[in-house]
Amino acid sequence: MLVLLRYLWALPNTLLGLVPVLIVQLQGGHVRRVEGVIEVAGGVVTLLLTALPIKPLAMTLGHVVWAIDEPALVRTREHERVHVRQYERWGPLFLPAYLLASLAMKLRGRDAYRDNPFEREAYNKAG
Ligand SMILES: [Zn+2]
Repeated sequence: MLVLLRYLWALPNTLLGLVPVLIVQLQGGHVRRVEGVIEVAGGVVTLLLTALPIKPLAMTLGHVVWAIDEPALVRTREHERVHVRQYERWGPLFLPAYLLASLAMKLRGRDAYRDNPFEREAYNKAG
C-alpha cells in the first residue's frame, strides 16, 4: 500500500517523464524498467538533455529517468535513484521546491546546481 501511495504521489512528474517515451521507442532508443523505474535514453531525450544549459547526463522525473545514452543511465543510476526517493517524498511539490532551492542558492551567490540541497543529498548518498 505504501509503495502504491509513493507511485501515486509522484505520478504527475512520472507522466511528464513518460511524454517522450513513444517517440524514443520509434527512434530506436532505449526504454527499460529497472527496479520500478523506467529508464529512457537516446533519440529526443538526448536532444532535450543536451539543449539544457547545464547539459546533464541524466535527469529524473518521478519514476522516470532520462539519460543521454545507456552508459550514462548506468553511471548515474545511484544518484538518480536518490532523486526518485525525493520525488516520492515531495510529489508534485518537488519541481517547484527544486527550482526555488536553485534560485535561493543563486541569489546567495552560490552554485544553483551543486549547492542545491536536493543535489547535495544525492551527491552525499550516491556521488
Ligand atoms: Zn542530481
